[in-house]
This record gives sequence, C-alpha cells and structure tokens, in this order.
Amino acid sequence: MFTHKNFLAALFGVAVLSVLSACGGSSSDSNNSATATDSNSDNDTGTGTGTTAACDTPATELSSAFLEFVAAPNVTVVLSEDGCSVSLESAGKPDHTSSYWDAGNASGLYVEPEDASLFAAQRSPGDIEDYTNDFNLTVSVSPQLASSSSATPLGAIGIALSGAPIFNDSEGNGDVSLGVIQGFDRNGAHTGPQTYHYHLEPKAISHDDDALVGIMADGFFIFGRRCYAVGDYPTDLDESNGHSTVTLYTGSGAEDAEYHYHVSTEQYLNGDYYLIFPGNFQGTPSDIN
Ligand SMILES: [Zn+2]
Ligand SMILES: [Zn+2]
Repeated sequence: MFTHKNFLAALFGVAVLSVLSACGGSSSDSNNSATATDSNSDNDTGTGTGTTAACDTPATELSSAFLEFVAAPNVTVVLSEDGCSVSLESAGKPDHTSSYWDAGNASGLYVEPEDASLFAAQRSPGDIEDYTNDFNLTVSVSPQLASSSSATPLGAIGIALSGAPIFNDSEGNGDVSLGVIQGFDRNGAHTGPQTYHYHLEPKAISHDDDALVGIMADGFFIFGRRCYAVGDYPTDLDESNGHSTVTLYTGSGAEDAEYHYHVSTEQYLNGDYYLIFPGNFQGTPSDIN
C-alpha cells in the first residue's frame, strides 16, 4: 500500500504540472493580462523548475476536511510530497444504497425504488456495476478564488464523499427535467453514459443539514443546504451558492473563514429537489479524469 501511494503521488505530481501549464494557457485566452499571470506563477509555480511544484502555503499534513475523505471507504487521498496539492481518486461507485445497484443485490446495497413502475419507465440504462471508472482530481491545498467564474462542463465536476462524482444541472444538452428526476434514486442520482452520478442533493450524504458533501474540481469543498457557521440556511450566498465563513473543519476565528459551496437551497421545479451544483466554478477547476 505504502509503495503504491508513493507511486500515485509521483504520478499526480506530473499531472499537477501539466494541469498548471494548461491553466496558464487558458487564462491568457481570457482577459487576464501578463501581470496577472506573473503573480500567479509566484504562487503556483513549478513552471520553471520542472520536477517539483512549490507554493506559498505547503501543508505538512492533510487538513481535517480531507480526513473525511481518508475515512471514506471509496476515496483515496494523497498529499503531494511538496505539500502543495492533494490528489483524490475514486472508482465512481457510491458507498451507499441505491436502486441503481444490480437488483440481484450482490453488492448488498440494492434498495427498491420508491415508485417501482415509474422508476422502471424513467430509469437510465445500466446498473452501477456496469461502469468501470477511475476518477482522479488534483487540487491545491489552498485554492483561491479566480478573477472570473467559469462554467462547468458536462461530466464529473466534483467528487462526493461517497466516491461517486458530482454532475451539474444539465442532462445532455438540456436542463435536468422532471422526467429525468423521476428516474433518479433516492440520492438524486442515476447512471449515465459513463458513470453513476449526482445531480441533486445526495441524501445519504447530506439531507437538509450542514454535512460535508464533497469537493469540487476547483478545490473548494461543498456542504449541505445548511451552514455550520450560521446553524441554518445561509443567506449571503453568491451566484454559485458559495461564501466564506468558518466551517466544522476550520478554526473559529474570523481569519479562519474559508470559501465553500453549498447544495442549492432553492427548490428546483417546485418539488423537493435541490440541485447539487447549478452554478459556475468560482475557483480554477482542474480536470477530473
Ligand atoms: Zn445525469
Ligand atoms: Zn457556509
């Protein structure tokens, strides 16, 4: 195991460098000037040295929020040797029950759908067992807000604590419709072209509470509909359902405030449906591949 992790760390180290250079390329496409690029490279660096990525705030150990992922059976977490980035890996299969597990119940996690005939009519093809995946995400240990937000792509945009990926509010080329929702399991999820994934609040992880739900591709954590800092629904969210406050995993001082997202607090389609991440990234996303 230990050797395997070292191997992964080395592998992810290479991935970090290529992601950084890709980001440098795309930021010059947008409105960023050379000045902005320069100040970034002071932080993120790596660009010149080739083998290691240095950063201003290297970590010597994983922060407590990441320890939740370490404890999660379906996610592997590795802090890079230079302490600048964290890599997460999962196979995309959730550690909780679903009607999308094979009904033969070899997994022990199959549950009957709430409405069997509606589910049979609306469900997506394929059981969870049918999909073989390897999701890898490498994020900074201290992600920063970007100068401008960016739209989320189709496919995995975050990794939930369960090990399954988070998708946005689109299904194919349209918004998630009521018909699509009728094919979801109790966790706002279904199978897709490549993987089981969430579009709505994943109730097995968080149901109208402030629990840690997962991590988005830009490195910011996402929590349930309520906020630990206010003990209720947050009222100061930005267009991505994000804000900066202390969390269960930070210190309690004002200087400990940390940007994070919440599952949408707005009812979707007038039902008991809450989109998990309908907004833009407010940080700089890495690829999940
Ligand atoms: Zn979907
Ligand atoms: Zn909050």
